[in-house]
Amino acid sequence: MARCQQCGNFASYDDSFEPEADDLEVDVDSEQIVGTVRVALVSECCGDEMKDYTFDVEHDITSEVIAFREKHKLSDKVLIESELSLDTEMTTRRQRNDRHGKPIKHSRYSRTYYGFNSSGTMTLCAAKGKKTIKEEINVSFNDETQASFFEELY
Ligand SMILES: [Zn+2]
Repeated sequence: MARCQQCGNFASYDDSFEPEADDLEVDVDSEQIVGTVRVALVSECCGDEMKDYTFDVEHDITSEVIAFREKHKLSDKVLIESELSLDTEMTTRRQRNDRHGKPIKHSRYSRTYYGFNSSGTMTLCAAKGKKTIKEEINVSFNDETQASFFEELY
């Protein structure tokens, strides 16, 4: 726990705070979804940002792109365009077992992990003759890290 700068009290984190994931995009050349997701830990009392962590995203979509090319019989030279429509939510996970698999009895010894889960659709488009082929594919990916790796913002 950390002190909220707005009211000075020790504060819990608002674990429903929406991460920033505006720059996620499909890189068709490397066949990855790339970008960053910034998760902020904000105080539940005042919504004050106390800590943050920025995740680098490199989510592989090679198999989706290959399947799209094969299904529509597109050669490797056909340019594929893409669009993303994702919802990104914050995730919280409390470690329940120690590294030997035994349950942790005292919460002060258990680690908390914060991260994100992005899910939604990726639309792939390609021109074939005079037609445009379009397909929506479900994608989801996530990441998390220990609370202690988050950086203090003040
Ligand atoms: Zn506060």
